[in-house]
Amino acid sequence: MTQQRVLVVEDEPDLRTLVAHHLDLAGWQVMEAGSVRESLALARAHVPELVVLDIMLPDGNGIEVCRTLRADVALSATAILLLTARGSEIDRVAGLEAGADDYVVKPFSVRELVLRCRAVLRRRQPAATAAHRWQAHGIALDDQAHTASVDGAPIELTALEFRLLHRFLCHPGVVLTRQRLLEEVWQMRPDLQTRTVDTHVKRLRETLGRAGDAIETVRGLGYRMKPSAP
Ligand code: CA
Repeated sequence: MTQQRVLVVEDEPDLRTLVAHHLDLAGWQVMEAGSVRESLALARAHVPELVVLDIMLPDGNGIEVCRTLRADVALSATAILLLTARGSEIDRVAGLEAGADDYVVKPFSVRELVLRCRAVLRRRQPAATAAHRWQAHGIALDDQAHTASVDGAPIELTALEFRLLHRFLCHPGVVLTRQRLLEEVWQMRPDLQTRTVDTHVKRLRETLGRAGDAIETVRGLGYRMKPSAP
C-alpha cells in the first residue's frame, strides 16, 4: 500500500514541526506549509489524502482555504481536519459549512491529533472502491458510467439527485449542511432556499428505498450518510 500523504498547514514553526514529526512517526508522508499560498500550491501539486489546517494564517483564513480546496474537483477525496483556537459553535459550524471533515481544538495533545487524523482517513477510505466507484449501505454509484444501484438493482436518478448522492457517498459520517449542499450540488451561494435541499433529499431517500435510511437528518445542521459498519 502506498504511503498516505498529509499536508500540515500551521504558521507557528514549533507547533508545525511537532505535529509533522508525530504524523511522520505515525507512518504518513508529511508535507508542511506555513501560509495560505503555500498550502494551496502544495495541495494542488501533491493531492494529499488529508490536510491538517490551522484557521489563523498570516495571509488569510483556514476556513477560506478549506472552501477553496473543496471547490477543487481534483481534491474531492482529500479529507480536511481543522485546528481551531476556539471551540465555539460559530467556528465549528463555519468549518463544517466550508467542508471540513472534523476539527481539533487547540491546545490539543499530539496523540489525540494522530487519533483524529486516523479516524478521518478511515471514514473516507471505504467508500471509494476505485477512483470513480462509491459504495455504502448496498448503494453503488459509478461516476464515470453515471450509473447507480441499490442492492444490485439499477435506480433512475436525475442529474441533480446523482450529484447529491455522490456528495453523501464521498463523505460517510460527515455532516453536510444545507448551505454546503446548495454550494456543492446546486452551485449556488447559500441563501434562503435551503428547503430546496430538503425536498430533494426526501425524493432521493424515496428513490433509494430501503437504503434511504442511510441518509440521516442532523437537527439544525443538515444531513449525514451513516458510516458503513467496519
Ligand atoms: Ca496560526
